[in-house]
Amino acid sequence: MIPRPMQSGAKNGACNPKVVVVFPPYTPHPTPYTPPQRGLVICKHGQTKPGLVTVTLERDECIVVIKKVPAEVCDNCGEYYLNNSITEQVLQRADVAVNNGAEVEIIRYAA
Ligand SMILES: [Zn+2]
Repeated sequence: MIPRPMQSGAKNGACNPKVVVVFPPYTPHPTPYTPPQRGLVICKHGQTKPGLVTVTLERDECIVVIKKVPAEVCDNCGEYYLNNSITEQVLQRADVAVNNGAEVEIIRYAA
């Protein structure tokens, strides 16, 4: 079979071809993800320690910035890990902001 040449545009005009369901919880760390264990996550170059980070999430035109999120922060590259329950809450808050129609939302995370 001969590969078809590039199609321009979406196959069906009715649907947005870009389906984004969840926010990426954080930018991918260069090392494979390991479930956070306080003080034990080791990246290739550094170690993580507890800290507060600013999480920026983007979906379509909406940008949600959540400040002071508790995380494990790599002391070498500054990358951070969020544990599952915090990730859930962060995503929940971002969802609320998106559903409210906010284009840019800045939230302060409160535990
Ligand atoms: Zn690192």
